[in-house]
Amino acid sequence: MNPNETLISSAQNTWCPGCGNFAIEHAMRYVIEEFEKEGIPRENFVLVSGIGCHAKIADYFNLNSFYSLHGRAIPVATGIKMANPDLKVICFAGDGDLYAEGLGHLIHAAKRNIDITVICHNNRVYGLTTGQYTPTSPYGYQGRSTPGGIFEYPLNIIEMLLGSGAGFVARAYSRKIPLLKRIIREAILHPGFAHVDVLQICATFFNMTSLYDEYTYETAESNISQFDSACRTSHQWNYSDKGPIPLGIFYKQIKPSLPGLSKMKDRNREESIRSILSEYS
Ligand code: SF4
Repeated sequence: MNPNETLISSAQNTWCPGCGNFAIEHAMRYVIEEFEKEGIPRENFVLVSGIGCHAKIADYFNLNSFYSLHGRAIPVATGIKMANPDLKVICFAGDGDLYAEGLGHLIHAAKRNIDITVICHNNRVYGLTTGQYTPTSPYGYQGRSTPGGIFEYPLNIIEMLLGSGAGFVARAYSRKIPLLKRIIREAILHPGFAHVDVLQICATFFNMTSLYDEYTYETAESNISQFDSACRTSHQWNYSDKGPIPLGIFYKQIKPSLPGLSKMKDRNREESIRSILSEYS
């Protein structure tokens, strides 16, 4: 790839005006340009996306990428990382995609501490299919499929990830871009599974700008190595009530990563890929 070429591809962008996906794209572009200045070539990054509005980000970047299937971004990202552990694998997913369709994959990736970065575009609706509720929609949410409102409480995804063993758990907001950039950078640098839940504005079907602008705040991140402290911070907002809504890194702890990964690193890359393929042929 030509380092002088812009990181943004010529693919026509079809996100709605005001969509928070633009902010995530901007932050990612900034972070990769920073890494390039520090000597990490863009060839070292691979983007994986699932299905949904967010997933188009794989087309919008001039980077190696894999546009995967509903809920299956994490297995694809895991396979790429195992085949070539030197790559930085960044997995984009939406809340319906990741917290409903692919939830089992998310829990087990956190539990086994595979060294990938997961960035969830959490707009709290299925935007691409016009606003159905997802696991993080608030109690009472009225969407196209639930005009009477939903009678279930949302998943507190931060709490769930802490309980699953994730070593890096953070929350950002698409309208607080400096924080978003810093958290994405730290997540990519974290050696092990890293999860960033981004409160992303869906301008068309669930515009939470006023509420998030009023209730989000940046935590001091003073005890991020303390599990109990992270749990307490995660309980400040249940994804349903108004707030306060803490943003920042909740938990950061270096843990042993997927067994066998360091061994694979010593093997010839082609041999690694052939051996993985032969298991499934
Ligand atoms: Fe963004 Fe919502 Fe439009 Fe999808 S439907 S592109 S999430 S504003």
